[in-house]
Amino acid sequence: MIDTHTHIYSKEFAADRDAVVARARRAGLSAIVLPNEDDTSLEALASMCDEYAGYCFPLYGLHPTELTADYRGQLERIFAFAEQRADAKGVGEIGLDLYWDKTKAAEQAEVFAWQIDYAIAHNLPMSIHCRNAYELLFQVFEQFSAAALRGSLHCFSGSAADAQRIVTDYPNMVLGVNGTVTYKNSELPATYQDVPLQRIVLETDAPYLSPVPLRGKRNEPSFVPFVAQRLAEIYGLPVSEVEKITDQNARRVFGI
Ligand SMILES: [Zn+2]
Repeated sequence: MIDTHTHIYSKEFAADRDAVVARARRAGLSAIVLPNEDDTSLEALASMCDEYAGYCFPLYGLHPTELTADYRGQLERIFAFAEQRADAKGVGEIGLDLYWDKTKAAEQAEVFAWQIDYAIAHNLPMSIHCRNAYELLFQVFEQFSAAALRGSLHCFSGSAADAQRIVTDYPNMVLGVNGTVTYKNSELPATYQDVPLQRIVLETDAPYLSPVPLRGKRNEPSFVPFVAQRLAEIYGLPVSEVEKITDQNARRVFGI
């Protein structure tokens, strides 16, 4: 299994980061993908990828809720850092978030499109955050060649129609599934019935969104098997098959 989206470089894991990684290995995770947040999280992210080289892989990008007034400067610092490191496995976490604040939609869309441009120019995949903004997401996507867009719609939370549009129109995009699929009132199990397993990757979004039965606790990569188990029920497949196919998907999309 591969956790394709987790923030275990963050301060929530300062006290026990090594133990978290050890538990991930014991739980059967073969790789962990770490998306950046803003220009202040770069050092912690990169130092974790150095410490666990070959196991933790970095994505560099600017998260839509972390934009400051100087978002151009933030982006310049993030891209300069990525170019100096030359170890990026993708661009992330990038995207749109209109859940708390709709006033920044234009700035978010601009910064998102710049980062998509960067990803395409560098032939890198993306980890995309999209919350309450699927209409705008598709407007931004339409500025680009559909086949050039490669990556994961992390923590997919759109409608069944949004999922179908991704599957049909964007052949190199996959949907990231995490603990939310295990929640009692989730509509995601119904949505995924019409999504081929070849278009799905596993993730946590740790420290957030722990799966049932650990909901409410701090999330971590070793909880990914609960997500795989729920997908096995949804797809009517052995969990080993879900692990195998989602691993192939993650390796294909993120080049790991
Ligand atoms: Zn995230």
